[in-house]
Amino acid sequence: MTPGRQAPRRPAMIVTRFAPSPTGRLHVGNIRTALVNWLLARGGGGRFLLRLDDTDAARSTAAFAEAIEADLAWLGLNPDDRVRQSDRADLYEAEFARLIAAGRVYPAYESPEELELKRKLRAARGLPPLYDRAALALTAEERAAKEAEGTPSHWRFRLDHGSPITWDDQVRGEQRFDPALLSDPVVRRADGSWLYLLPSVIDDIDMGITHVVRGEDHVSNTAAQIQMFEALGAAPPVFAHLALLTGSEGALSKRLGSLGVDALRDEGIEAVSLAALLARIGTRRPVEPVDSVEALAKGFDLADFGRAPARFDMAELEALNTRILHALPFDAVAARLPDGMDAAAWKAIRPNLTRLSEAADWWAVVTTDPALPELTAEDRAFLARAADLVAAGASDWAGLTAALKAETGRKGRGLFLPLRLALTGRDHGPDMAALLPLIGQDRALARLKAAAKE
Ligand code: GLU
Repeated sequence: MTPGRQAPRRPAMIVTRFAPSPTGRLHVGNIRTALVNWLLARGGGGRFLLRLDDTDAARSTAAFAEAIEADLAWLGLNPDDRVRQSDRADLYEAEFARLIAAGRVYPAYESPEELELKRKLRAARGLPPLYDRAALALTAEERAAKEAEGTPSHWRFRLDHGSPITWDDQVRGEQRFDPALLSDPVVRRADGSWLYLLPSVIDDIDMGITHVVRGEDHVSNTAAQIQMFEALGAAPPVFAHLALLTGSEGALSKRLGSLGVDALRDEGIEAVSLAALLARIGTRRPVEPVDSVEALAKGFDLADFGRAPARFDMAELEALNTRILHALPFDAVAARLPDGMDAAAWKAIRPNLTRLSEAADWWAVVTTDPALPELTAEDRAFLARAADLVAAGASDWAGLTAALKAETGRKGRGLFLPLRLALTGRDHGPDMAALLPLIGQDRALARLKAAAKE
């Protein structure tokens, strides 16, 4: 290669990651982040990885890790690979040693109380809570003395104040930070444990992450992390910071903020409904029903996301869930339907559902004879006539009701309601024309006869 000329960069395959800490259940905010990372990877034929940020050993649990996997699987956001930070201590140690050698991390000896005092003093002078780099100013002798005294040291990353930190955020546009206005971040605690910032960068490099998409609460972390990528000799990935979610009344309510995916599932929300909403709120594209999460990957573009907070509205989710259910094909739900319920039954019953679980109730209406309805003598006589017609072979609803109408002069409610009551035990429900063939001639006849009896 000619000196001074860079090799053309190969268009890299998109590699994204979702990096939750297994210290709790996933809520709608995390799921949105996972989904957008998945869509970005899938939409571009790339890879989507799961990384469990479990460096906080005290709060991370195997049960939460399993629950995260289960929630992702429920949503159909299956990772192509998965890693756990707790398995990668050797890598962090090696990279940390490189940063020490390069003078990009330094030990700091202040206790939490001292730091708090420094913050207060600065606040009293109207200064922002910036770390004053006192530890960086220590001479080798002073440092040796601290070590000899056994003063515990934590470690800070030394930000380079030389030039502004900039990046072209795929959601927020051009970002610019003056590193001198940021504290050198603590990257490692005195007990040797890691804070999130540095391991995340080491992993993103090692895992070949090309795009980091996360919530806008991470924007200032990104500024520091960009310098960490550079200090480790890597080009930073593309960054995109999603605007936060809010509830319908403005700020995200406590309930919504902590609204677990598990709670939504238990409430009967379809995974695809949640995905369809979360993929579009806060974007310029409409929320629309789809029948699979894959369908959302078509035409997915980070540039569609805006900077304004995205509004998450439970009522909108419920309405979308209903619309989606009414259009879901049998194959998408077959495994979750009651035994014996076939495609025709699904088609007949789904327009009446707001939750898939309600299908079982309507299927029971088909398969189980109802309690006898209260009817007038006149209605019973009418049903006896209906029974005769069914016995004589009338099996379709249109034919049966047309014949009854012609014979009895009944119409509207007077014609339909007694039949519905006798056949289903309910005064409302799926279209009888679709339901009657499911009930079948034998059961229909038995129900009409039973209801017609005194
Ligand atoms: N574990 C971090 C979090 O949950 C990951 C942030 C990131 O995506 O880098 O906030």
